[in-house]
Amino acid sequence: MGVLLNAFLLAFSLKKGFLTAGGAIIALLMGTTTWMAHPVFFLLLILFFVSSSFLSKVTSLEKADAQDLASKGGTRDAMQVLANGGVACVASFTFLVVRVSGSMAEWVLRVGTGAAAATIASVAAATADTWATEIGTLATQDPAWILDWRKHVAPGTSGGVTKLGTLASLAGSFTIAILGVTIGGITSMYSLDMTALFTLWAATGLAGFAGCFLDSLLGATVQGFYQCQSCGKGTEKRVHCGKETVLSRGNAWFGNDLVNFLATLLAGCIAFIIGAS
Ligand SMILES: [Zn+2]
Repeated sequence: MGVLLNAFLLAFSLKKGFLTAGGAIIALLMGTTTWMAHPVFFLLLILFFVSSSFLSKVTSLEKADAQDLASKGGTRDAMQVLANGGVACVASFTFLVVRVSGSMAEWVLRVGTGAAAATIASVAAATADTWATEIGTLATQDPAWILDWRKHVAPGTSGGVTKLGTLASLAGSFTIAILGVTIGGITSMYSLDMTALFTLWAATGLAGFAGCFLDSLLGATVQGFYQCQSCGKGTEKRVHCGKETVLSRGNAWFGNDLVNFLATLLAGCIAFIIGAS
């Protein structure tokens, strides 16, 4: 059923131009793994994917300039899918192993709860980042530089933050966190009392937000940022105006995919530690 549902959604995404063929293959593997671990994980990934694709299409008209600065357009390739969903895939697979083992040993159950929290938090981080990026570019004031809030940078610049984007980030993270933890609790993914439920809401939601913050921080420091030699604009793209761009900040090998991966990894680790303790 998971494979069928996946295949249907992916065929639709390919047709709509949300995914490349490589991206669809990775998404199929990821979707099937998370579905087998627990359908709620799959639901969260879909929610992330649908909301970001929708936001990116809706806002793309409003922010042609900002879109220009980002390294890739609305169509996600295999590396982007892995960067956003790889941690969730590994964490949910860990949860699956714990469930299949049927072990009732306390430490095994703790690992299971930690893995569930890590899955939810990593999707929360990816969602927080996309919502912040997409909605943040609609802000009317120029973003503040994350390392020095008195400075302003062009919309769409990595490391630029706006109030609207920060609110969108919190909203994205906590939407995934509250939905995931609540549905997980209802379907007795783990045994929960109210205190544990509140702890997991806060842990996964804040872990997702922390991941998104790391994303901006890396974007402002080590991530490669380029300047177009023709029009002078700053961009994450290697080619602009038909010409190769020149590195103006950060490292060429430190791209957006690696940044996204590290952000979801941080969120997953924080949530795993809190969830398992
Ligand atoms: Zn240019």
